[in-house]
Amino acid sequence: MYNKIYVGDNMLIIGSHVSFNSKDQLLGSLNQSLEYGSNAFMFYTGAPQNTVRSKINSKITEEAVSIMKENDISLDNVIVHAPYIINLANDSEDKYDFSIRFLIDEIKRCEELGVKYLVLHPGSHVGLGIDKGIENIIFALNRVNLSNSNVIILLETMAGKGSEIGSNFFEIKRIIDGIDDKSKIGVCLDTCHLNDSGYDISDFDKLLLEFDSIVGLDYVHCVHINDSKNVLGARKDRHENLGYGSIGFDTLINIIYNEKLEGIPKILETPWIGEKAPYKEEIEMIKNKVFNSKLKEIE
Ligand code: FE
Ligand code: FE
Ligand code: ZN
Repeated sequence: MYNKIYVGDNMLIIGSHVSFNSKDQLLGSLNQSLEYGSNAFMFYTGAPQNTVRSKINSKITEEAVSIMKENDISLDNVIVHAPYIINLANDSEDKYDFSIRFLIDEIKRCEELGVKYLVLHPGSHVGLGIDKGIENIIFALNRVNLSNSNVIILLETMAGKGSEIGSNFFEIKRIIDGIDDKSKIGVCLDTCHLNDSGYDISDFDKLLLEFDSIVGLDYVHCVHINDSKNVLGARKDRHENLGYGSIGFDTLINIIYNEKLEGIPKILETPWIGEKAPYKEEIEMIKNKVFNSKLKEIE
């Protein structure tokens, strides 16, 4: 079970990406996260690169929710990540309508699971240009009619690979400005993506001030915690285990324990080490605030 760690008056909310399979669904995801010592978790409702999705089984969901209650885990700290195949920025192919429909279904699945936060990559404009891409994203999100559900879409800050939109705070701000129901839109900060897009996150208080002045800190509801295999501004997006990349362990610990982000779930999406998920060990490192130089030997 998770041992409570406090940041200011609030509990540290920490977890990782976990799997979600058609058989065990939310219960399976929860069990994995409990194994890792987490009190938060994130999953794709199916394979991120395809659209095969199983029907949500309400019996399993109920069982998972009751175990979550016993373990003091709030559904507000459970996050769904929308699949990469959704691209709302490019309206030049059939994929645009498909993306919108799939997002609507994904929101329904979140509702069935009782999940409040759905992380979404804003999209890639694929040659249409940033302005047209942003226009397409806004149009699509408004067509989804976010007011119809309790789910809040969290736009993830991106690394800026290829034609990705959302790699700077101004683009995120422009999208939010266009959304009809602003109570249903938020932001997920990703430390690897921030670094790769060119934001120096070693002084995170300064970065949060900048974010706050452009977008508004109240929009942040999730933080992805990853080190980066690449240097500042590389626009690459390759995640690394905590303390093994260019961001470094101390900077990531400072972000995780930053008081301005207290109560907000921090989710690890660091790479597996061989056949094994590193999350139990990494969460241990975070709780102890001590870097484990033997992490890569866990295989
Ligand atoms: Fe993501
Ligand atoms: Fe991420
Ligand atoms: Zn990434």
